[in-house]
Amino acid sequence: MEKIILGSHVSFNKNDQLIGSIKEALSYGANTFMFYTGAPQNTNRSPIDVELTHLAHKILKEEGIDPAHIIVHAPYIINLANRNHFDFSIRFLREEIRRVESLGFKNLVLHPGSHVGVGIEEGISTIVSALNATVDSKTKVKICIETMAGKGTECGKSFEEIRKIIDGVKEKDKIGVCLDTCHIFDAGYELSDVDRILDEFDRIIGLSYLSCIHINDSKNSKGSHKDRHENIGFGHIGFSTLLQFLYHPKLKDVPKILETPYVTKQNSDKKRLYPPYKFEIAMIQNKEWNSHLIEDIRTYYK
Ligand code: FE
Ligand code: FE
Ligand code: ZN
Repeated sequence: MEKIILGSHVSFNKNDQLIGSIKEALSYGANTFMFYTGAPQNTNRSPIDVELTHLAHKILKEEGIDPAHIIVHAPYIINLANRNHFDFSIRFLREEIRRVESLGFKNLVLHPGSHVGVGIEEGISTIVSALNATVDSKTKVKICIETMAGKGTECGKSFEEIRKIIDGVKEKDKIGVCLDTCHIFDAGYELSDVDRILDEFDRIIGLSYLSCIHINDSKNSKGSHKDRHENIGFGHIGFSTLLQFLYHPKLKDVPKILETPYVTKQNSDKKRLYPPYKFEIAMIQNKEWNSHLIEDIRTYYK
């Protein structure tokens, strides 16, 4: 079986920290994972526990998981494109970089931000100043700028916009790109020919910048600018196209992360949510779409 670097979004809680994240990833059959160091929508962060981190790295080694494949996602309240939030965003991004460094990881995925009305040019130049104020030659983490769907005034909705950001950053070797399949599809890219899209990415940005891929299907059609993720093979991108990204030889060394929605299940008293990742990973490894995936998940989580 071809080995791909595949995992999903997992939780990170203040008591177990990485130990909990690793256990969750292993329970899905993953060999990597992505997490937020706290709630994505706020800046409450508990201190990183040195002992737990040390133990976690021992477990990673035993399990054959390369720490360089693990991804941290910055909270999305950081908005580097908005001058009014500039100081707050820079301060918090710096703290987040320190946390990723102390966890012993290399990749921090970041949404470039929304310009909230000042225009894309101004937005991009604000992002560039913010990155130059945050990253220097001693930074040990790569900031992986995520491709966005173009919802509202989001910057980074095309390869050209991402290129402009990289062009302005001084420490280019501290910058990577995270390609999100749902986002670029919603932004208007035709994905059915994966070789073509990778050639375009290579020509405009450079494949060497590609540090992470978010593998998501989309609830909406191409160019919808909606950014609503769907389970693998259940959306408008489709299983065969996503499989091409997952198994493309040029992307062999790039970690792939699922951020697909949890499955709802109505139990006697209340509605509960269950993670789809164990089942999606198995389906990807089988390379065969399972039309009963959602029902299978509901049956498994009794
Ligand atoms: Fe993201
Ligand atoms: Fe994403
Ligand atoms: Zn998204």
